[in-house]
Amino acid sequence: AAVALMALSGCSGGRADTSGAGDTTGFAADATIGVALPSKTSENWVLAGGLFEDGLKEAGFTGDVQYAGASTTVKDQQDQISAMVTSGAKVIIIGAQDGGQLGTQVQDAHDAGAVVIAYDRLILNTDAVDYYVAYDNFKVGELQGQALLDGLAAVKPEGPYNIELFSGNSADANAPVFFNGAMSVLQPKIDDGTLVVASGQTDIKQTATADWKPENAQSRMDSLLTSTYGSQELDGVLSPNDTLARAIITSVKAAGKPIPIVTGQDSEAESVKSIMAGEQYSTINKDTRVLVAQAIDMVKTLQKGDKPEVNDTESYDNGVKVVPAYLLPPVIVTKDNAAEAYANDPKLAPLTK
Ligand code: BGC
Repeated sequence: AAVALMALSGCSGGRADTSGAGDTTGFAADATIGVALPSKTSENWVLAGGLFEDGLKEAGFTGDVQYAGASTTVKDQQDQISAMVTSGAKVIIIGAQDGGQLGTQVQDAHDAGAVVIAYDRLILNTDAVDYYVAYDNFKVGELQGQALLDGLAAVKPEGPYNIELFSGNSADANAPVFFNGAMSVLQPKIDDGTLVVASGQTDIKQTATADWKPENAQSRMDSLLTSTYGSQELDGVLSPNDTLARAIITSVKAAGKPIPIVTGQDSEAESVKSIMAGEQYSTINKDTRVLVAQAIDMVKTLQKGDKPEVNDTESYDNGVKVVPAYLLPPVIVTKDNAAEAYANDPKLAPLTK
């Protein structure tokens, strides 16, 4: 299905939502709030679960936080959401395992009067999703593409540069948005010959990393090195996140090759260390504390019977409707600005010293 994930970058100031979504008359101050998170494919999901538990409790709600398991992930999440509906949750916050396979469950949630908030990942092809709260994913991709160009120019003043492209799990609605954002920056440079994808693998199907699993990225990198980089040098790799970036670097090291410029995302502790050690080139800071707080803020507003604030009503089309969104700005981080970027993060700041 041609889903128009037309995420244009840039957030406008906080406009009140006038789209009519998420009407509510308010609900009990101790109501059950469901939080259905995907499997723990990156550190941000682990952090989010704990922050939701604590934050919802502190706000007086009864939180019900669930993760999709490691194997039967889609069905797990579908069942968890159904159980939340049955237990009378007033708001269900969902980080989708597979954005295209929750239509039935979110419709049931709506029919039962619950408000559905897509968290970090959009839910596709249904009008039963009221709000979207996320870092601007298209902007994440643009920043990754620009970081790759900057990193390459810093090592070698002139191209052509040999690069390879990696994208995320195809069932994650974010994966094409990251990729398209990055390609909006990289494609003109591929077209003018500055960048060469030496393997020829530029299609999102060829670049995808099943289930966001590092072992899948690592084995694809192994194959690319064997097939394409016997004699020529690999200068850069577009990696959609930190977990995959480290797997790509592991593969290159094992092959005894110099480490190329590798992008990332999530500010995982191991990647921040790698950046400070001069291995991984960049990551993206999407402070999970801020995103969870924003989602809980929406719940508090709904509890009072008011409409949550959104700041984007045109970018995130899920195939059926443009979902009113509250988008936060992602920040690119390299060794140069790491100390500044993580200054208020007690876990990451010490790693930049
Ligand atoms: C998130 C990324 C994360 C990836 C894998 C995406 O949907 O936006 O932050 O790296 O999932 O967990």
